[in-house]
Amino acid sequence: MSERILTGIKPTGQLTLGNYIAVLKNLRSMMDRGECFIFIADLHALTLPIDPEVLRQNSIDLAAFYLAAGLDPNRSALFLQSSVSAHAELNAIMQNFLYMGELSRMTQFKDKSAKMKESAIGLGLFAYPVLMACDIILYDATIVPVGEDQVQHVELTRDLVNRINNRYGDILTMPKAELRKVGKRIMSLSDPTVKMSKSDPKGDIFLKDEPAVIRKKIMSAVTDSGSEVKFDPENKPGISNLLTIYSAMKDISIEEAEERFKESRYGDFKKAVADAVIEELEPFQARYKEIVANKSYEKALRDGAEKASAIANKTLKRVQKAVGLLQE
Ligand code: ATP
Ligand code: MG
Repeated sequence: MSERILTGIKPTGQLTLGNYIAVLKNLRSMMDRGECFIFIADLHALTLPIDPEVLRQNSIDLAAFYLAAGLDPNRSALFLQSSVSAHAELNAIMQNFLYMGELSRMTQFKDKSAKMKESAIGLGLFAYPVLMACDIILYDATIVPVGEDQVQHVELTRDLVNRINNRYGDILTMPKAELRKVGKRIMSLSDPTVKMSKSDPKGDIFLKDEPAVIRKKIMSAVTDSGSEVKFDPENKPGISNLLTIYSAMKDISIEEAEERFKESRYGDFKKAVADAVIEELEPFQARYKEIVANKSYEKALRDGAEKASAIANKTLKRVQKAVGLLQE
């Protein structure tokens, strides 16, 4: 059986190089491996306060970025999460099968709510993993390519699938998180001990940054004491992060990248990293601009929502029936 692959990004802010390496760069090979459902997680974007106009604009941007990265709407389904109502409907059922205790152990919830007053934390932020489990389950996804930060949520989805299948018979497909070998966690350029993240944009490389800005950010990235270009995340987090970025851009192993720069000084190494990122992003940005201008994302999203709904509604029906909801 060919694989069913599900992947999504939240339109919460400007996309970063972390998102590119985790998701966008792999779209072409994903489509070769199986049937892909690729979505814009706009409902998830509402879990933290966001301006409506910004959300709309980010959603368009994200659709255009997916297409610029090589997503072929004829071979896969590209859609807005909110256009497929089965996500919200399945969520209403599944929220009864995941428990407060396990949800409060999710590190993403802990991280994101840490700086907030309790009275300002929405229920949606806490319940985020329930909806994410539904996103995965609806398409009978077998593979969910993610960065390291999302592995815990996919594990929780697996627990849920087991729970439902034990109780109601084998009605759901078991998904599996898949991590890239290189680049599962791209770190901030200004603080290589924290993840590069679009909702906390310090030290990010944005996919819309001009080449000159990208170069400047990389040349001024925080590095470590010493002068050797060596992969050692504990003692050399800055250099290790740049090595990871370089390896991901060039599709080579970390060892191979280390070997290339073993005689180099930090400055020359950083210049090579900047060249590699710019070489990859410049043509990508040109395609993105063209897609935004010709609005080809509109038809792709419409067709994608139709394709996705057909599959999602079948799963939803199966679950509704199993739990005892009367279906005409
Ligand atoms: P937010 O701050 O809103 O959570 P984000 O940058 O973490 O934004 P998400 O929409 O949460 O982006 O995640 C989209 C995908 O990008 C996920 O697969 C996630 O694992 C991956 N990802 C996000 N940040 C990184 C990173 N720094 N390194 C590698 N993968 C990442
Ligand atoms: Mg995130």
